[in-house]
Amino acid sequence: MTSGRQFLRLLRYVRPYLSILLLAVALMALSGAAHGMIALLAGPIFDRVLDPSTPDVPVKLFRLPLTGQPVYLQSLVPSALHNIWTIVAFLILVVFLVKGAGDYLGNYLVNYTGISVVTDLRQAVYDKVLRQDPEFFESNSTGSVMSALMNDIDRIQVATSSMLADWLRQSFSAIALVYVVLQKDWKLALVTLTVLPFVLVPTVRLGRRIRRTTRTAQDYAAELHEILQETISGHRIVAAFGGEEQESRRFRAAARRLRSASLRYVLQQAAASPLIEFFGALTIVGLLTYAREQIKAGQMTTGEFTSFVIALLMLYEPVKRLTGIHAIFQQAAGASERVFEYLDRPNRIQDMPGAVPLKGLRESIVFDRVTFRYPKGDRPAVTDISLEVRRGEVVALVGHSGAGKSTLVNLLVRFYDPDSGRILIDGRDLRQYQLASLRSQIAMVAQEVFLFNDTAANNIRYGRPEASLEEIKQAARMAFADGFIEALPQGYDTVIGERGARLSGGQRQRIAIARALLRNAPILILDEATSHLDAESEILVQSALANLMQGRTVIVIAHRLSTIRRADKIVVLEQGRIREIGTHQDLINHGGIYHRLHELQYLEPEGAARP
Ligand code: ATP
Repeated sequence: MTSGRQFLRLLRYVRPYLSILLLAVALMALSGAAHGMIALLAGPIFDRVLDPSTPDVPVKLFRLPLTGQPVYLQSLVPSALHNIWTIVAFLILVVFLVKGAGDYLGNYLVNYTGISVVTDLRQAVYDKVLRQDPEFFESNSTGSVMSALMNDIDRIQVATSSMLADWLRQSFSAIALVYVVLQKDWKLALVTLTVLPFVLVPTVRLGRRIRRTTRTAQDYAAELHEILQETISGHRIVAAFGGEEQESRRFRAAARRLRSASLRYVLQQAAASPLIEFFGALTIVGLLTYAREQIKAGQMTTGEFTSFVIALLMLYEPVKRLTGIHAIFQQAAGASERVFEYLDRPNRIQDMPGAVPLKGLRESIVFDRVTFRYPKGDRPAVTDISLEVRRGEVVALVGHSGAGKSTLVNLLVRFYDPDSGRILIDGRDLRQYQLASLRSQIAMVAQEVFLFNDTAANNIRYGRPEASLEEIKQAARMAFADGFIEALPQGYDTVIGERGARLSGGQRQRIAIARALLRNAPILILDEATSHLDAESEILVQSALANLMQGRTVIVIAHRLSTIRRADKIVVLEQGRIREIGTHQDLINHGGIYHRLHELQYLEPEGAARP
C-alpha cells in the first residue's frame, strides 16, 4: 500500500521524461515480440528447412490475438524471397536485429530516464537539506543525511533504471512467449504452466535464502570494515595501550563470521542450478512422452513441438528474473519512503506571507522580552531578554559557558524563533522580513573558522560571489591577510581548507575577517575565538577586527578584554538571564558578576589593558 504511494510520487519525477520512457517501452515491447518470433521460427526450421522434400506451401506461424486471423510465414517477407530457406534465414536475421536494437536502445532509454529522475530527486533533497534550520541537523546525524542522499537514492536508482529496464524486457518477452506456447497447444500449455510454479517455488525460496545470506555477509563485511577503520585512525591509541592482541582477536572473530557466511552463500548458490536443471529434465521427459503420442497421431508436427519447447525454455529466464525483481522494488520503496520524509519535512523558519525585504539598519535592534527553549532543551536557554542595540554600537555579550550568549545570536539570525517575545529591527518584527534579506544584512565571524576546500580567493568571496579579485585583495589587505596569502605557493589561487594548505589559527581567522569585510553587511556578529594566539598573531587579528568593526553595528560574544573595553555596552548573562548591563567601568565599579568574571577569567589587573 505504502510502497504503491511511494511509487506514484516517484512517477511525478518521471513526468519530464515521459516521452522517452514511452519510447523505451515500445522498443522493449518490440524486443519481447522478437523473443516470441525466435521460438516460432523453430517450427518451419524443423519441418521445412531441415526436411527439403516437403512442398513449398504457405506456413502458418500463429494467429493474431483478437481477430484470430492466421499469419503466414511467407506474408512477413518481401515477395522476392521465394525459397523457404531464404525466407527463414532473412527472418532470423531481422528478428535478431530487432531484438538487439530494441534491447540496446530500450535499455539505454530506460536507464536514461531512471538516472535523470534520480539526479533530479537527489538535487531536490539536497536543496531541501541546505535550507533546513539547525534543529534538523540536531535531530538527524550527518551519517543519516548522507545515507539518504547517497545510499537510499542509489537504491532507488537501481530500481528505476536497471531493474525497470529488466522488468520491462522480461515482462514483454514473457507475454510473447506465453502467447506462443498457448498458440502451439493450449491444453499442453495450460498443464505445463500450472506445473511451472511447483518447479519455481523451491527455486524462489532458495533465492530468498541466498539474498538473506548475502545481506548477512555484507553486514559482516561492514563490521570488518569498521574495525579496520577504527584501528587505523586510532592506531596511536592501540599502540600506546598495547591493544594489538585484542584488536587482532576482534578482527579474526569478525573475519571468521564473514568466512562462514561467504561459504554458505557459495553452497546455496551452487545448489540452485542442479535443482532447477533436474526439475527441467523431469518436465522435458513428461513433454516428450506426450509429444510422441501427438506426433504419431498426426496432431502435431516435430517443428511445432520444438517451437513449444523452445518457448517454454525461453520462458524460464524471464519468470525467474521477474520473481527476484519484486524484492528490489520493495527495497527501493523503503528507500524512497525515507527520502520523501526528508522532502516533506516542513521548515519551521520560513518567510511570512507579505514579508518585506530588510535593506539595512537605520536605528536599532531590539530584543523585547525574548524567551526561548531549544527543541531538545529541558529549560529555557534564554529568559525574558530585553536589550537594545543601537545602530553603530558595539555590544559585548559576556558570561559563563552555557549562559546563553550564542543563543541570542542564533535568534538574531533566525536559526530559531523565540517562544515568546519579539526581536525587532527598526521597529519591525524579524519574522516580517524576508529571511534571505535579513541574513544578507548580517556578516558573521564564528569562533571556529570554516574554510571550504577551495582557493583563498573563493573562500573570501563566499558571501559575495560577484566580487572582483581587486575587491578580494582589498578585503584581505584590511584583514591583514594579504601578506600570507601572497606568500602561498599559488597566491590567491592556492587551495586552502580541508585538503589544501594548512593555515594557522590566526591566519584562518583573518581569512574569516576578510570574508566578512567583503560581505560588507551593516550588522556584524562576532564570536571571538577563545584559543590563544601568539602575541604577534593576536595583534594582527585585533587590528583586522578593528577594521572590520569600523562603522558597523556589532554584537560580539567577547572573550578578549580589548574588545570588551571598546564596547559601548556590556551585557552580562547568567543562566539565560541578563544580570548586568553597562560599560566596562560601570560594571567594575558596580562590583557584581562582571567584576568577578573579569578577575577570574581575564586574570588581568585593572587598567592593564592590552592594545
Ligand atoms: P559558550 O560560551 O560555551 O558557547 P553560551 O553562553 O554561548 O556558551 P549557549 O550556547 O547560548 O551558551 O547555550 C545556552 C544553553 O542552551 C545551555 O544550557 C546549552 O546547554 C543549551 N543549548 C545550546 N544549544 C542547544 C541545542 N542545540 N539544543 C539544546 N540545548 C542547547
